[in-house]
Amino acid sequence: MIHLPNDDNCCGWYASLPPSAIQKRLNGDEKADFVVVGAGFAGLAIARRLAHHAPTARILLIDAQQVGQGASGRNSGFVIDLPHKFALEHPNPEHKQKILRLNRYAISLLVTLIEQHNIDCQWSATGKYQGAVGRRGQARLDHFAQLMRELGEPCHNVEGKALSAVLGTSYYQRAIYTPGSYLMQPAALVRGLADNLPENVERFENSPIRSLSREGKRWLLQGDHGSVSTPTLLLGTSIFTREFGWLKHRLLPVMTFASWTRPLNETETDRYGGQLNWGLTPADHAGTTLRMTIDGRIMVRNTYKYVPQYGHSVSNSLRQKIQQEHRQAFLARYPELEAVPLTHTWGGTYAISRNFTNFFGQLDDGVYACACDNGVGAAWGTVSGTLLADLAAGVDSSLLADIQAVTGMPALNPPEPFLGLGVRSKIRFAKWQSRSEL
Ligand SMILES: Cc1cc2nc3c(=O)[nH]c(=O)nc-3n(C[C@H](O)[C@H](O)[C@H](O)COP(=O)(O)OP(=O)(O)OC[C@H]3O[C@@H](n4cnc5c(N)ncnc54)[C@H](O)[C@@H]3O)c2cc1C
Repeated sequence: MIHLPNDDNCCGWYASLPPSAIQKRLNGDEKADFVVVGAGFAGLAIARRLAHHAPTARILLIDAQQVGQGASGRNSGFVIDLPHKFALEHPNPEHKQKILRLNRYAISLLVTLIEQHNIDCQWSATGKYQGAVGRRGQARLDHFAQLMRELGEPCHNVEGKALSAVLGTSYYQRAIYTPGSYLMQPAALVRGLADNLPENVERFENSPIRSLSREGKRWLLQGDHGSVSTPTLLLGTSIFTREFGWLKHRLLPVMTFASWTRPLNETETDRYGGQLNWGLTPADHAGTTLRMTIDGRIMVRNTYKYVPQYGHSVSNSLRQKIQQEHRQAFLARYPELEAVPLTHTWGGTYAISRNFTNFFGQLDDGVYACACDNGVGAAWGTVSGTLLADLAAGVDSSLLADIQAVTGMPALNPPEPFLGLGVRSKIRFAKWQSRSEL
């Protein structure tokens, strides 16, 4: 049995868009040359590239939800070029250069599509701040700067008045600015990408796949009101890949949560005193991500939960508690904006692995997947989806060789209850370590 995503209906990015046009549902029995499941960054990139390689093939792109309601539409909107967090600590410099090249290729693909189709998604070449509070955060920033130097990547310190003039708060003691990241409105971007797919991609939304079976040389995917059979199945299903029977004990489902304000009015903007359109990630891993959007909303993201049943395991009281924590984080930075409410609080589920390894490749006869981006999937989903289509179509390139070199098999997890105990205590410990940046 395939357990489905259970994303809340509260995502601010999605709510701020006009209603989307109603898309087809999977109805009746279909046959296709290729089926792509999952219409996030990965699935959209797979479908687009497959259509490029096989312009006369019938390609079905199927999602359980509406495009933009999955993690790809509910993230913090950073498209990061640098290897992130754990990948940045990799001992082999060549490994990191390959990730950098792959991420930058993803960014160039997105830039081209956004320009070509005039996708209105607040796309901006803003770079990114990494902000520190306290001694531990400062030490992590020094370490980050050292890693940037080793990588040959530009970065500079911003502190004091120069920093508070950008952020509108003196909460952070110092930040390191790196110029290569972009910001966007995630729900608008994925919707724009989906609305401009090549003609031979047929998109089905609100069409959960409930079971998968083998019929001779074809795969049969069963939905609520129809089915589809195909010789070639490509999964852009992130953590849900394990529900289809692969990587079952190798992926860890983690949720993280965000809240934002309505756009600040003129008086509030004056009181805030910072700039519009910037993004800051915490120097310490489990701290708060902060964004000021181009239209004047402040967004905070923090809190990690291990969610073996995805969103089903998040109770209303937990949501309320998280919203209160977000409010505290907001007021700690912007006490002068006490009258500004947080209008939306939402969560999203993604996959990590214990060895922080991404999976990319063939899982079975005629089945391919890219899964487990360890929480930085905007660039990675785009590039891994694109190159997965190349792999399935037999198209070789140096980028394909790069992605095969930097990906691998996510580590096997211990059985429950040890897994849950271990992950939860790691999350608690990381939260405690990062407490000054929460
Ligand atoms: C709050 C939050 C903030 C984040 N911030 C950032 C950030 O700033 N930058 C960044 O790079 N990453 C960020 N991430 C991570 C990023 O969002 C994900 O890594 C990325 O979206 C994964 O993309 P994907 O296409 O692989 O998977 P997803 O976007 O998860 O897409 C998988 C799709 O598969 C569909 N699906 C699953 N099961 C089925 C089924 N049985 N039948 C049909 N469809 C199915 C789902 O509905 C879903 O739409 C954040 C995540 C969250 C939750």
